[in-house]
Amino acid sequence: MFEINETHDQNLKSWVESANAPDTDFPIQNLPFCEFDYETEEGAAWSVGVVIGDYILNLNKCLEDNLIDEFEGVPGQHFFMIENLISLQSEKNETSLNLRRKLIDLLCENAGEEIQSKVARNLHPISECTFSVPLPIGDYTDFYCSIFHATNVGAMFRPDNPLLPNYKWLPIGYHGRASSIVVSGTDVKRPKGQNRGDTEQPPVYIPAKNLDYEMEVGFFVGKGNQMGETIPIENAEEHIFGLCLVNDWSARDIQAWEYQPLGPFLAKSFATTVSPFVVTMEALAPFRVPAFERDADDPQPLDYLNGETNRKSGGFDIKLEVYLQTPKMREESVAPFMLSRSNMKDLYWTIGQMLTHHASNGCNLQTGDLMATGTVSGREKDERGCLLELTWRGKEPINLPNGEERRFLEDGDEIIMKGFCEREGFRRIGFGTCRGRILPAE
Ligand code: CA
Repeated sequence: MFEINETHDQNLKSWVESANAPDTDFPIQNLPFCEFDYETEEGAAWSVGVVIGDYILNLNKCLEDNLIDEFEGVPGQHFFMIENLISLQSEKNETSLNLRRKLIDLLCENAGEEIQSKVARNLHPISECTFSVPLPIGDYTDFYCSIFHATNVGAMFRPDNPLLPNYKWLPIGYHGRASSIVVSGTDVKRPKGQNRGDTEQPPVYIPAKNLDYEMEVGFFVGKGNQMGETIPIENAEEHIFGLCLVNDWSARDIQAWEYQPLGPFLAKSFATTVSPFVVTMEALAPFRVPAFERDADDPQPLDYLNGETNRKSGGFDIKLEVYLQTPKMREESVAPFMLSRSNMKDLYWTIGQMLTHHASNGCNLQTGDLMATGTVSGREKDERGCLLELTWRGKEPINLPNGEERRFLEDGDEIIMKGFCEREGFRRIGFGTCRGRILPAE
């Protein structure tokens, strides 16, 4: 239902020159949404925007100026984007596709001079904007959908039986904490918690020692469902507005002691970082791939998780990269060091299956809910999406180019995540960055 159309033409160019740079994440074919603050002569103002090159197009102002008029939005209202874009996705996404077409008309190089000068007044340089979490997030659920990550982590604890029997039957998940989700660029204070590193002694309450990140992809619920209703797999993507990058910060020592029998709790809930830009399902249409190819002796998904469209194109080819910059590297102006690169297409379960499974008991999903895939790891060693895997619980430290080494994150370390899509015949699009720096514990 998210089809490739004229809005994905690689030859489309914008009169916003920076959008035509070959390496930009934000060409005219992308147009991700964000919420941002900017300065005016009357003080700070807020708006919903779309990213074009090095600028944010102020959608609330475009509405005021009648540049976009597809729907009856109330400029400045916090729920503008949600109510006027996402909930209207129910009409086979026509509204969001119409808006995409309209924005491309306004921003493409063929736009008339008068339009260009009107639109240009509503562009803000990204460097002059501050961003917030892109949607008000009511609920957050984190999955565990990379079979490579699950197998690696399982192998550390159960070498003979790394995958539990349910893994290939359902997308494993847990309910995360929405209140501590922060936008990229927000510092994260090292959490304190119970550590029982010495099993001969009682636990102690200390700053987490084994602080880690997890490279994940998030997706936002657009249209929700009523409590008691389920979401058929073939309709699942109608309920998804778009994707972002997620860093699920994890305190491994707290996690190791607290996780049985009910799963992660305080090891995760102190902070989760999201990138500020939501890349829409429309923009991602050229980068869809078949769902993960299961081994011949793996079970097929139960019927409610098994749909033809999902099998054929439920996956995403999104390249993911994680970089680390230590305080010493910053002082010495050493560029961030790449820790891993993985790809979302290696996930065992699709986001459609995650969403359908989430609602399969009648749980009502709501507009703005965030779901994340779980750590995206691949088959290879350099495709492992967290330090727990990369250093094998700290046993194999990473040697950095400047002579430092890391088992887990130290105070002052910054983790920078990137995501982008490339395909022959199409324009490269990207997600921007998702970054966060560790502050010392209180
Ligand atoms: Ca996670």
